[in-house]
Amino acid sequence: MPDETPPRSVRDRVEGLTRLIRYHDHRYHVLDDPEISDFQYDLLLRELEALEARWPALAADDSPTKRVGSPQTFEGARPEGPGEALAPVRHTRPMLSLENAFDREEMEDWFRRVQEGSGTEEVSFIAEPKIDGLAVEIVYRDGVLSVGSTRGRGDEGEDVTPNLRTIPSIPLILRTTGSPPELLEVRGEVYMDKNDFRRLNRTLTEKGEDPFANPRSAAAGSLRQKDPSVTAGRPLHIVSHGPGEIRGLDFSNQTEFLEGISDLGLPTHPAWWICKTPEDVFQRYRDLLEERERLPYEIDGLVVKVDDYGLQARLGARARNPRWAIAYKFPATQEVARILRVEVQVGRLGTLTPVAILEPVLVGGVKVSRATLHNQDEIDRKDIRIGDAVVIQRAGDVIPEVVKPITSSRTGKEKRFRMPRRCPSCQTKVILPEGEVRHRCPNIDCPDQVRGRIRHFASRSALDIEGLGVKLIDQLVAEELIRDPSDIFFLRPDQIEALERKAEKSTENLMKAIEEARGRPLHRVIYALGIQDVGEVAARDLADQFGTIDKLISASPDDLEEVYGVGPNVAKSIHDFFLLPRNQSLVTRLSEGGVRFPETVRKEGDLRGRVFVFTGTLPGLDRSEAMGLVRERGGRVSSSVSKKTDFVVAGEKAGAKRKKAEGLGVKILSEEEFRRMLKLPKE
Ligand SMILES: [Zn+2]
Repeated sequence: MPDETPPRSVRDRVEGLTRLIRYHDHRYHVLDDPEISDFQYDLLLRELEALEARWPALAADDSPTKRVGSPQTFEGARPEGPGEALAPVRHTRPMLSLENAFDREEMEDWFRRVQEGSGTEEVSFIAEPKIDGLAVEIVYRDGVLSVGSTRGRGDEGEDVTPNLRTIPSIPLILRTTGSPPELLEVRGEVYMDKNDFRRLNRTLTEKGEDPFANPRSAAAGSLRQKDPSVTAGRPLHIVSHGPGEIRGLDFSNQTEFLEGISDLGLPTHPAWWICKTPEDVFQRYRDLLEERERLPYEIDGLVVKVDDYGLQARLGARARNPRWAIAYKFPATQEVARILRVEVQVGRLGTLTPVAILEPVLVGGVKVSRATLHNQDEIDRKDIRIGDAVVIQRAGDVIPEVVKPITSSRTGKEKRFRMPRRCPSCQTKVILPEGEVRHRCPNIDCPDQVRGRIRHFASRSALDIEGLGVKLIDQLVAEELIRDPSDIFFLRPDQIEALERKAEKSTENLMKAIEEARGRPLHRVIYALGIQDVGEVAARDLADQFGTIDKLISASPDDLEEVYGVGPNVAKSIHDFFLLPRNQSLVTRLSEGGVRFPETVRKEGDLRGRVFVFTGTLPGLDRSEAMGLVRERGGRVSSSVSKKTDFVVAGEKAGAKRKKAEGLGVKILSEEEFRRMLKLPKE
């Protein structure tokens, strides 16, 4: 490295970046009120790292780049309740943070470094979902939980033992048949489910307390309490995913470790994958990115590790990160934009939704100019005003939402928003049903609602009627040729042609598309009906479970709740839907219009919608391989037994899970029966 003096502009930038990072650290760690996304923060940190690498003289001893903990996994909220800090705990081995990769290129670079460092191209990787929670370490001595701590700065965290003890899924004593290991330090992530997070925020708001910004800070805030009884009242979960110091047990790779601690009663990821090649990793990443929204908890990427512990040790660590692991992050989902005005939309179910029209901004590579404000209550609770700069968040394909205003940048010219008293589509007086937060237009013939129902019905994931687009639907509704979705199947070519000087060819194509729609699989028809809370996944599960539309219509709420992923509320909304004469006649009219509602027949070996739990050791089967086989055939693997479990595959030394399955009447399979079901060769 030549001994150059860094130019003035570089020195200024390093200073500026350091100041900026410290400011955002403070907002994040102390105020628990970040202004920028993790992604934006990372960019700042990486720019500083790059400059320091190029000009080592500029790397100050107290530079933000020299901390062990990375901000994504660093604790969020300050400890709550009376008193100051929690007692410190030193980690036997430092809890390193992971390096991040933001795109394919950075991952390929990492794969190359790993292969070079290990001297072989045949490296086996393990990929685990990266749950967005609070990193902790739990220490078991002679099988008994002795200390639990947060990651803290990496070398030293905070004592949260009494708080961790209140999390029901954390065993206080390890489940062993022989003598327990002398020492087992396990690292994991404490997190909160998305639904529980929403419920908690509602409760906090009702009590006049500040809500949490996201599930991660809710988990952090709930765990870092001075009073463990507060933690006990919070719905926290944990996944264990890494070893600290261990004595009395021997694991040679991560797979063995995860299986081993799972057998000891520690909760692990419901899913993880062995990847033999980088291409496998990319495939898992794409799959998980797609599945992300359907998971009950938030994940922000895929953690990829070298599976073999010997190889891990050879690769070692550099300053802050192990070289054998990386966090392959999902695209950023938060950005800042200004609200220009607010529009009110009327949905197909009559719900009025205020939508913020934004100065366009790129979020995770997609241009966003509208974001939902949900309802008046949310707007009031978050104090969002027209003209505010706001944090917006995009998640998957759903419409982005406004998370919160950046109040520090207000000018005083911002205006409050009030819901209109009449429906913007049909001028009917808007109602706010008792106990609900969403205003509704009660007029079921409201043009916007009718259009919405038909658009949904014809949309690609529903009956996919090509050529029946938004414009044509609007015309057909305006001419009163269509009042409900079943009318589509009674349309005549001359009616369409008369409509807009349509070419004969396009009318012909539309009639063809309508004919094709008559034979769509049952699950798509169920989805197309537009039952409240029934999305594509639930529709598929319902079709798999009931097979025919008649069986679904006559299902009781109890029958419906048996379906994986269908809770009491969804069951009620399905049941209520089919009770309405209007909807009964919709189904009849569809059938008269030639819609065939084909029966869903389960193919041999098709495990779609079936839920499996594995327990005990399967002598002839690799457990992760068995789980993979189930998933390949469309089944799901869960870590705990409930009444929604279809099969428990019980191997040798199966304990509590087997008992629970017996109690619930869940079918228990031996390894051999499992093999037969999946048509695997005999061992
Ligand atoms: Zn209306």
